[in-house]
Amino acid sequence: MREIVGFIGLGTMGAPMARNLAKAGYEVVVYDVDASVRERLAEDIGGQAAVTPADFAGAHAIVTMLPTSRIVASALLDWDGGIPAHLDAGAVVIDMSSSDPTETVDLGERLAEAGVALVDAPVSGGVLKAEAGSLAIMLGGDSEEALERALPVIEAMSETVFRTGKLGSGHAMKALNNYVAAAATTAACEALIAGERFGLDQQTMVDIFNASTGQSWVTTNVLGQHVVSRTFNTGFALGLYAKDVGIARHLTEALDQPAPVCHAVSATLNDALADLGNVDHAAAMTYWEQLRAGASAVHSES
Ligand code: NAD
Repeated sequence: MREIVGFIGLGTMGAPMARNLAKAGYEVVVYDVDASVRERLAEDIGGQAAVTPADFAGAHAIVTMLPTSRIVASALLDWDGGIPAHLDAGAVVIDMSSSDPTETVDLGERLAEAGVALVDAPVSGGVLKAEAGSLAIMLGGDSEEALERALPVIEAMSETVFRTGKLGSGHAMKALNNYVAAAATTAACEALIAGERFGLDQQTMVDIFNASTGQSWVTTNVLGQHVVSRTFNTGFALGLYAKDVGIARHLTEALDQPAPVCHAVSATLNDALADLGNVDHAAAMTYWEQLRAGASAVHSES
């Protein structure tokens, strides 16, 4: 009999990840609040679309790939009495969303009361790596048994798994990584705007960053293809980027660590989000281009 895995959150990332689980031979029970999305995917992969939490009965793992920690907790625990009531002892929840590590620790306690273990396994790599099954995973968890149980499921969607330590450590690492990437994006866009106003050609600037010390993953993979080209189609939403940097900011605050650059990057992403709405994150460039010295910005720090 095939092992059953539940998958909740079938968006940009979740749909191809669930597809790879089915390809690996798991019987996949899928759920998304959008009924048409879950029904179409279930049909596509020969799986089952859940309608109630009881449809996850028999699953030995539940994967979540949802926008925020709050939504992860609510999808697992608030839906018609919650999913854990229908799981066998030893089942594991694998939260692959980019969640807040402090909320992950709280969720771990709540799930443990219901007899279910939690591991955090956020992903690095966008939709192309999700489709190829070659994501990099940051895996945290307190129970070795739960980690061992989760590993084959995770490996069906990934190429590299980094063990980061205790529960929440994967989520902390993910937020800190995205903060560093967002700082590079913000700085690079500011430099492109300043350079162009001084008379430099933006694509020439990108070529020089990439041959110089300003080079980063962002200058190599985002600037030319998505910003200078003005296609703004990385597939990663500005709201999710702002959320990730907000998580990194909360973490530094919880640790009493002054982190002025993290605060500044978080504020400018929140301002762009307030102005543009939830566009592709590369399109934040259009917000920074229209700013003028002395003009007031929102400077929200949600
Ligand atoms: P998305 O918005 O495309 O998909 C989220 C899905 O969750 C949607 O289909 C939505 O209908 C569903 N959903 C929302 N609330 C729900 C609920 N209560 N119950 C069931 N389904 C619900 O988001 P995404 O881009 O796939 O990102 C998912 C997670 O992965 C986020 O935490 C994000 O930060 C992270 N992430 C995204 C990328 C990327 O490139 N898009 C890369 C790495 C990590």
